[in-house]
Amino acid sequence: MSDPSFDVIFIGAGPAGYVGAIRAAQLGLKVACIDAFAGKDGKQALGGTCLNVGCIPSKALLDSSRQFHNLVHSFDVHGISADNPRIDVPTFIGRKDKIVKQFTGGVATLFKANKVTPFFGTGKLLGSDKDRGNQVEITSPDGAKQTISATNVVLASGSVPIELPFAKFDGKAILDNASALDLAEVPKRLGVIGAGVIGLELGSVWRRLGSEVTMLEALPDFLGAADPDIAKVAARELKKLGLDIKLGAKLGKAEVKKDGVHLTYTDKDGEQQLVVDKLLVAVGRRAYTEGLLAADCGVQLDERGRIVVDEHCHTGVDGVWAIGDAVRGPMLAHKGSEEGVAVAEWIAGKAGHVNYDTIPWVIYTEPEIAWAGKTEKELKDAGIPYKVGSFPFAAIGRAVAMNEAIGQVKMLAHAETDRILGVHMVGPGVSELIAECVVAMEFKGSSEDLARIVHAHPTLSEAVHEAALSVDKRAIHKGN
Ligand code: FAD
Ligand code: AMP
Repeated sequence: MSDPSFDVIFIGAGPAGYVGAIRAAQLGLKVACIDAFAGKDGKQALGGTCLNVGCIPSKALLDSSRQFHNLVHSFDVHGISADNPRIDVPTFIGRKDKIVKQFTGGVATLFKANKVTPFFGTGKLLGSDKDRGNQVEITSPDGAKQTISATNVVLASGSVPIELPFAKFDGKAILDNASALDLAEVPKRLGVIGAGVIGLELGSVWRRLGSEVTMLEALPDFLGAADPDIAKVAARELKKLGLDIKLGAKLGKAEVKKDGVHLTYTDKDGEQQLVVDKLLVAVGRRAYTEGLLAADCGVQLDERGRIVVDEHCHTGVDGVWAIGDAVRGPMLAHKGSEEGVAVAEWIAGKAGHVNYDTIPWVIYTEPEIAWAGKTEKELKDAGIPYKVGSFPFAAIGRAVAMNEAIGQVKMLAHAETDRILGVHMVGPGVSELIAECVVAMEFKGSSEDLARIVHAHPTLSEAVHEAALSVDKRAIHKGN
């Protein structure tokens, strides 16, 4: 019997691969999607890092822990009190697990509805056969092997956490993102290495439940990729939450002993010691390609181990594409999904498109942080003349009514054309507010365009409206 053959095989069912697979099927292609991820029950769990151990479970725990923290610390201003609030960690984690199951199961249902054929196992691109196209070997969890073929193969193998050689993950004392999302109890002292997106989000979760959280960040600046005005507000508020963020502090050694994990780090004053009960290492992620590529398949990796692709996500090998965290660009779920859609459309002979200049970034701390487009530094470095408008949530009625009047919206527009070049926010609900700015930027809109759009009152979106007005020094509810 001949091997099954498809129009497209996706290797990896994270947000890049599964979204691309569904789009390809919508376009009438015969699609397979291979994924190796197993859930807690040992069965296939589609959805990759994002649905299993990333975006969705972290947001579930952030939401639960936020409710608990508010109950303990800020409901009293509303006149609400509760005696002896407690957190039941198994219920807290169980709710997250249910949400994960709902969404990973949802991908399986979507595959069925769209006639995408799932395979459970590890896929390896073998190379091209002149009669049958690209060959992919699948090794199932029990070791059985089969080969399937397709005209096109899309590599969407994602990323894994970077491990420090002197602080190897053991899932008990030294944690990666997956084990930090699955603790059985609140650690008394939690160390976090890396004050990036993942470290800040997961550090916030356990701090809100009562952990003493100490974060070590090697770089001297807090959130160096964000606008400095935004990062300053975030640093102040996270400090108020009780996150002890030590900047310029580089971990050099971590030893697991009976009484905890003993850390040795260096800062401007020299060598320092710290003992914690659990250590989360969140120093970034790396592209994952282990076992993915036969030695002679022709696909190249760059110096950081990422699959080399051109601006159309093509690897240069006939019919072989790559998307998501496994390739260059920001490691964000929505970036991978858009690449998946674009590749499916290119394969189907349509005009796919990803605008890398308007990808929004969101950090789901309290307050939330979000931005899209250029920072002031990038504009200065590029010699682009710009105007700045900003507006504080302290003057937004809805934010005050919510007792969340912290932060600001800052808008950067071209000094001559007024085109919006970047928007940077910290404050309540900014993960949602950034979408309006992305739409405006995608349509090459100006601050004047946003300034003349009617925004509902009272809403948080009025901060965007007023920041747009402020670019032209005509904000209504603040001095200009
Ligand atoms: P992945 O999601 O990593 O999926 C790749 C899949 O391929 C996996 O299931 C893997 O098992 C499988 N695979 C790999 N190799 C093979 C092979 N050879 N054969 C078969 N299967 C294989 N991003 C956001 O945009 N917003 C967020 O809020 C956010 N929060 C995050 C929170 C945490 C804690 C973490 C860790 C990440 C977060 N991210 C977030 C990042 C986001 O999860 C990734 O950018 C996204 O999952 C990348 O998608 P992907 O499809 O490229 O890869
Ligand atoms: P992100 O890439 O957003 O996940 O952030 C990871 C952070 O970890 C970066 O800000 C790095 O500077 C930081 N980092 C990397 N290695 C170390 C280390 N050994 N000690 C402290 N911080 C580190």
